[in-house]
Amino acid sequence: MKVLVETSARHLHVTQQDLETLFGAGYKLTERKSLSQPGQFASNEKVTVVGPRGQLNMTILGPTRKETQVEVSLSDARALGVTAPVRESGDIKGSAPCKLVGPKGEVELAEGVIAAKRHIHATTADAQKMGLTNGQVVSVRVDTAERSLVFGDVVVRVSDSYALAMHIDTDESNAAAAAGEVYGEIVK
Ligand SMILES: [Zn+2]
Repeated sequence: MKVLVETSARHLHVTQQDLETLFGAGYKLTERKSLSQPGQFASNEKVTVVGPRGQLNMTILGPTRKETQVEVSLSDARALGVTAPVRESGDIKGSAPCKLVGPKGEVELAEGVIAAKRHIHATTADAQKMGLTNGQVVSVRVDTAERSLVFGDVVVRVSDSYALAMHIDTDESNAAAAAGEVYGEIVK
C-alpha cells in the first residue's frame, strides 16, 4: 500500500495569546492555503524566529493551538544555533528555546523548538486496511529516480480527523530528492 509523502518546510504553531502578543490584541490568523490534513492551513502571517546564531522567517500554520511550537529541520536548527530534539508534535518539554519577533511584539520561548519525528497520519479505516496501529513504528521505502531510500523510525498516528499522508521535513526530502508528487511503500 502506497502513502503520499509530503514535505513540511519549517513552520510554527502558536497559541492565541502569543499570536496577539506578536500581531496585536484580538488578531486572528488569515488563511492563505489549506493543507492536506482537514482544517489545517498555512496562514499569511509570518514571524522571525531568532536563535543564538541566526534567524529565519517562518509561516504560522493554523488554527491556533494550546502550545506554541516551532518545527525546523536539523539544518534550520544549525542555522539558528539551537539543538532541536527529534520529537512528535506536541512533545516539547525540554526542547530548544528561541525568540519570536512579530510586527507588534516579541515572545521569548523557554522551550518549543523541535525537529518533527517523521510520521504517517492515518484514519482508523486506513490503518485497518494497512494493518497499522496508533504509535506503531514502521519503515517507508521511497523510490525516487536518483536517491531512493528507506526511512526508518516512522511513527504511525491514527485519528479520524486525519487524512492519509506521510510527513517529512526538508532535510529528509532533500536526502531522497523527493520533489513533486512522491509516494512511499510501507515496510514493516
Ligand atoms: Zn504531520
